[in-house]
Amino acid sequence: MGKIIGIDLGTTNSLAAVWQDGESRLIPNSFGEYLTPSVVSIDEDGSVYVGKIAKERLISHPERTAASFKRSMGIEKRYTLGGKSFRPEELSALVLKKLKEDAQRYLGEPVEEAVISVPAYFNDMARKATKDAGALAGLRVERIINEPSAAALACRKGSGKDAGLGEEDETILVFDFGGGTLDVSLVDCFDNVIEIISVSGDNHLGGNDFDQIIAEQFCKENDMSFEKLSARQKSMILKSAADVKCALTEKEETVMVVTDGDFRQEMRLSNKKLIQIAMPLFHKLMVPVKAVLNDGVREQLRPSEVVLVGGSCKMPCVQQYIRHFLSAGKMTAVNPDCMVALGVGLYAGIKERNEEVRDLLLTDICPFTLGTGLFNPVDPSRSTMEPIIERNSVLPCRKEKRFQTVGDFQKTVKVDVYQGEAYYVDENIFLGELMVGVPMALKGQESVTVRYTYDINGILIIDVRVDSTGEEIRRVITTGTDVIPQDKMDEYVKKLEQWDLYPAEREENQLVIAWGERLFAQATGELREEIGNRLRYFQQLQDQDTYKIRKHRNHILAFFKHVERILAVYETAWVQPEEIDHWYEERTKDSEEAEEEYTRWYDGHFTS
Ligand code: ADP
Ligand code: MG
Repeated sequence: MGKIIGIDLGTTNSLAAVWQDGESRLIPNSFGEYLTPSVVSIDEDGSVYVGKIAKERLISHPERTAASFKRSMGIEKRYTLGGKSFRPEELSALVLKKLKEDAQRYLGEPVEEAVISVPAYFNDMARKATKDAGALAGLRVERIINEPSAAALACRKGSGKDAGLGEEDETILVFDFGGGTLDVSLVDCFDNVIEIISVSGDNHLGGNDFDQIIAEQFCKENDMSFEKLSARQKSMILKSAADVKCALTEKEETVMVVTDGDFRQEMRLSNKKLIQIAMPLFHKLMVPVKAVLNDGVREQLRPSEVVLVGGSCKMPCVQQYIRHFLSAGKMTAVNPDCMVALGVGLYAGIKERNEEVRDLLLTDICPFTLGTGLFNPVDPSRSTMEPIIERNSVLPCRKEKRFQTVGDFQKTVKVDVYQGEAYYVDENIFLGELMVGVPMALKGQESVTVRYTYDINGILIIDVRVDSTGEEIRRVITTGTDVIPQDKMDEYVKKLEQWDLYPAEREENQLVIAWGERLFAQATGELREEIGNRLRYFQQLQDQDTYKIRKHRNHILAFFKHVERILAVYETAWVQPEEIDHWYEERTKDSEEAEEEYTRWYDGHFTS
């Protein structure tokens, strides 16, 4: 049986590795380099270039060259190169063919089989297209492995020695920052299983964006407009920007020089300055990190190790930034751009020996929130939404919450089931209801526990248990898979516009409420709960004196501003509880009073 090679078929660069002498080794290409740019170019006489040469031709012959075609795997897209039409898998096949030939030369024997890695978020079509590309390149592809799993494998095993897992269990956060994409994954490793718990990312954030920002800064400092440059000048400056960016990996400061005929301009650039000009990019980096950590919290998993993967993780400022935010635990940042390939090489070795590592991927998440209506003392006709299963929960999923009776001698409790993100249940989708009898008692003395179980097939099971008697009832509901339309937000805005008939004082209150409702729809988890509670408190203040209302309005406004900041930075509501607690910077007497009054109300009234 011939050798099996492992291939990291990247958007920007591709690499091959092989299991040799008990370790995973990278295979050099015809230039003696490990990275082959995933670029294909076709000459006038029909010769095909793959890699470094093709990358150069991206500037000189853009109409005969294609890059980043991995983005289109599995979708109906055609690339035209020199008048000929190519499918993305055909272009990928040309890259694979080049890697295969380089491997055969290096190994001195034919290569017929490969294991190829793909992003965890690739769907069946994209995976199928990757296998097809292999077949077109004359490679048998029996196994596809997920990129974060490959990185985790490489990280657990170093570059190899004895492969086969079975070491201690651990959870790893894989931060893969490449040329045009950022993929963040939370990976759980136990026995011979690598399970991807959660994935998030930004499909349009990568090293290219740093190049762009450096290029624009260069133009700004030299009184030019990047936008007005010719295509050739643009790519020239971008290339030079990429070069200084890489130079800053080795030294703290450098000079970017661009010469073109008589034209010669320069700019000093340091890592410190790069951080300043690229701040908006840094902020974006943490969005997916927060999202996967958030999912991890739900699964009670905290990463014990962070692995930096992808060429852009070579940047010292990126490493520093991540280190700053993820202070706890171990961080691995060795050869980030080779990590995935080394892992796939390792996997190829495992396959050669007929051993097993299971690469599991949970792709099923609940795209909307499932909850129940909560009695609203301010307006009994409009219940508010109490989330039980939050959107983006990994499925199958089970969650429960307890609710107390709201009336004296209440005989029954009604549990309504809703789907959606809005604060009032009547703006969400009604799915069904359950009635259960409870022993008569004073309000708050009886309670029911409501449990939602939701699975991949859209089946929601609701169990309601009366805590004092143990009586249980169940209902099964089938939900639609439609996501709640985004235009709900426009409705709020329209509503706001009609409010100028209100007296100014009330208008301000309405604004607070509308703002709160929007934040409620945006946030998740603890933060969302807190927004809901504060909003309920504010609403029930309406018959109080103006001074008191104003005091609380200012207080809640400060809170909302804080929430806005959290959401803007992280877009997801994964926040430390203490971040919620200590949100007001300036403790005026008023705000302290307001907070105390709220706490008293909360302790006395809130019942879930
Ligand atoms: P992909 O996974 O998208 O194929 P890679 O992991 O190979 O991509 O990352 C490519 C990106 O890494 C490019 O934007 C490149 O400029 C960047 N990069 C490579 N080496 C360095 C370096 N030394 N310093 C900064 N950026 C680098
Ligand atoms: Mg990659």
